[in-house]
Amino acid sequence: MRIKRGFRLIFTTMNEWFSQHLINWYEKNKRDLPWRNQTDPYKIWLSEIILQQTQVVQGTSYYLKFIDKYPTILNLANASEDEVLKLWQGLGYYSRARNLHTTAKEIVSSFNGKFPNDYSSVRGLKGIGDYTAAAICSFSFNLPYAVLDGNVFRFLSRLFGVETPIDIGEGKKEFQLLANELLDKEKPGQHNQSIMEFGSQFCKVHQPNCHQCVFSEKCQAFKTNSVNRLPVKIKKTKTKNRYFNYVVFIDKNNNVLLNKRSENDIWKGLYEFYLSESKTEIPIQELIKLDNIEKIAGQKFDLLHVSKTYKHILSHQILYSKFFVLKIGSGFKKTINHTPIHNLKEYAFSRLIEKFLDDCNLMDLV
Ligand code: SF4
Repeated sequence: MRIKRGFRLIFTTMNEWFSQHLINWYEKNKRDLPWRNQTDPYKIWLSEIILQQTQVVQGTSYYLKFIDKYPTILNLANASEDEVLKLWQGLGYYSRARNLHTTAKEIVSSFNGKFPNDYSSVRGLKGIGDYTAAAICSFSFNLPYAVLDGNVFRFLSRLFGVETPIDIGEGKKEFQLLANELLDKEKPGQHNQSIMEFGSQFCKVHQPNCHQCVFSEKCQAFKTNSVNRLPVKIKKTKTKNRYFNYVVFIDKNNNVLLNKRSENDIWKGLYEFYLSESKTEIPIQELIKLDNIEKIAGQKFDLLHVSKTYKHILSHQILYSKFFVLKIGSGFKKTINHTPIHNLKEYAFSRLIEKFLDDCNLMDLV
């Protein structure tokens, strides 16, 4: 793809000026974050994966917990998936944790435990896309790959007045070309950190302080009063409603039935109570008929508690969930996975189940 002529002219005159101003701004304004000022690719990779879809404040505590428990790739590779998911609990988007673990094992088996230092090997690792590969390669190895995340899209679209939607293939290519052209090839790591920080901390989504901006004189969006309109997105995110009915079976020995989620769906690898999904909210009487719950509970059981409906919002789904706590008269069969109530805290659960367990002390019910 060829870069537009207008941009080419702008680049020839402002490339150096741009990077210099950007880096100056960064050196004066950068936040002091634990993964900064170092080149260890493991730590940079870990921070980048944690920070996808996560605020810095929340991500920092998880980053520190991971570094503390798994100071090296080998430590992470040697952990069990359950342990990794437990440490990740509450961060959401659990495929990131599963990929992190798989990739750590891959680095140990295929790269002798040493993080690869060329772009194509890094990009080839599971869970590492264009953005993360560029971040690792530029921050750790000073390789000239330009990063393009949501903050960079926004900043560039405003500065150059680019109207091409950022969520279509054509837009992604055009912005990548722009970012590549602007990249300071001598200091790609510092340049990339600066552009991301500027986008996130100064050229913010809402009400950026354009009058104080070092780029305001050249900013097309500021000059044409289109700051709030850019960047352009065309795709609307569709959300679907789901209805989760959790039955918390507790047997006469105070064991709780637990399943591990194994389907390719949300929360794969996490644990949960017996789940029955329905098309709408349903009462317990209907749930029992629908799901043949008596097969597990037998004829005799007590309904100890029915929770409120929890509304849990994910990126593309809204879950309406209720928990029905049933005490059954017998012990669980050996074929049913279960654990004592007091052991529940050892398992990795979704934030939804964590919230229910915070609200409802099962030991008080039995
Ligand atoms: S002038 Fe405003 S919109 Fe333009 S780059 Fe600066 S902060 Fe962003």
